[in-house]
Amino acid sequence: MARFAKKRSGFRRVFTAGGSKHTHAVYVSTKRQPSKRKYIASLAVLGLLAYGGVSLLGDSDALITDLSTSPIKIISSDNFGAIDFSADFPAEGAAPTDPIALLDLIPVGPVQVSVDKGDTFYNIARRNGLSANQIGNILNDKNAERMLKRVREGDTFEFLISPLGDIEQIRFQPSVEQRLEIAVLQDGSIDVDYTKIELERRVLYASAKLADGSIYTSAKQAGLSSRVVSNMARVFRYDIDFTSDIAAGDEFAVVYEGYFDDKGSLVRSGDILAAEYVNRGKTYDAYLYESSNAVEYYSGSGRRLKKSFMRNPVDSVRITSRFNPGRKHPVLHKIRAHKGVDYGAPRGTPIYATASGKISFKGRQRGYGNVVKISHANGYVTLYAHMHKFGKINVGDVVRQGKLIGYVGSTGLATGPHLHYETIKNGKHIDPLKLTSLGNDKLSGNSLNRFKSGTSDYRRLLAKAKSEPAKIASN
Ligand SMILES: [Zn+2]
Repeated sequence: MARFAKKRSGFRRVFTAGGSKHTHAVYVSTKRQPSKRKYIASLAVLGLLAYGGVSLLGDSDALITDLSTSPIKIISSDNFGAIDFSADFPAEGAAPTDPIALLDLIPVGPVQVSVDKGDTFYNIARRNGLSANQIGNILNDKNAERMLKRVREGDTFEFLISPLGDIEQIRFQPSVEQRLEIAVLQDGSIDVDYTKIELERRVLYASAKLADGSIYTSAKQAGLSSRVVSNMARVFRYDIDFTSDIAAGDEFAVVYEGYFDDKGSLVRSGDILAAEYVNRGKTYDAYLYESSNAVEYYSGSGRRLKKSFMRNPVDSVRITSRFNPGRKHPVLHKIRAHKGVDYGAPRGTPIYATASGKISFKGRQRGYGNVVKISHANGYVTLYAHMHKFGKINVGDVVRQGKLIGYVGSTGLATGPHLHYETIKNGKHIDPLKLTSLGNDKLSGNSLNRFKSGTSDYRRLLAKAKSEPAKIASN
């Protein structure tokens, strides 16, 4: 599926062709496995012949006759949305005139067999009447082997069983992208059919206006899934709080990826490629863009949306002391500048790196107790003090923003558990709460030009989305 990841001039390709790949193999078995179910099935068939009506309930262990129902009906609990089984069965009510021919025509099922905890394909197949030899033949197929050895709790197999109780086919589709069909032929030999469905990527767009405060209602009316909405909320999360900021009258337009299966059904959405959100009259926009080494969202003017500094290094925010150059120290009882911010939090609360950088110090330092320092781009340093314990980090490690670096404690000079957090630029302390950027968040020069020309298609699609109802963009 490497083709989906292909990028061109900083953007993903707007269109990739779909299709499916098919492999087919036949494996010969030496012996056909008799089935104990044959006897029960025969009884059911007798019921059919005697009363002229029977309902075969899809259950792997028993066939239940229901004499009140007529004519033949196959009850299935088909939840395999991507597979169309209807072609395999005669239309309901169109009973063949010869009941003997019927025996050959109509398998039972599909019977859903779901995988229990600790179960394997081997066990399931054995329980349902396949011989070890037949299973060996199935697993000799490398596609079948690869898919079946990864069977997990909750996966579902479909068994088609002949009226005499023999397995005719096993179907397995753990994802929309691959499908396995195993046929057990009359002579007991095995036929494995593997289909790889290459999803077709298309660019979709939509727009909506919030009639009330609910973005999900408006999105639904515009034909958008809740996944697209939550992805959009994530894109704008540095600027808009979707739990409290949004209001009736807000508008948005979105350009996003949709993946279609070989039947032309939209099976899932992918990334947001561009979006515009008007929140209480203020417009925010976002474009997915690949700069030197990362794919990230930028505003239309070329500002990276993700802040290079997180505001707070701990999750539950209770600031007990702010940056203050002239305060009285609670332990030393004399005027000493508070060069950072204190966060009150229980001992053991995780502490995260507020920006990506390199661990430059980890150890004990007088009043600071257990302390970690991180060096960042453009002369920035962050410091985290009074730690109870360190995270799994070492001096020299390059850490990403959000990396767990330690736990709140009260080591060093501290009245109780809290995190003392400092930010320093070129040796000078600055107020951490005013720091959002390492100064490398804006595209400039050639990369800005490249970004501007590259976003022009998306800008046009956003404009189109705003002027038209939801639609699939043609290539
Ligand atoms: Zn402090």
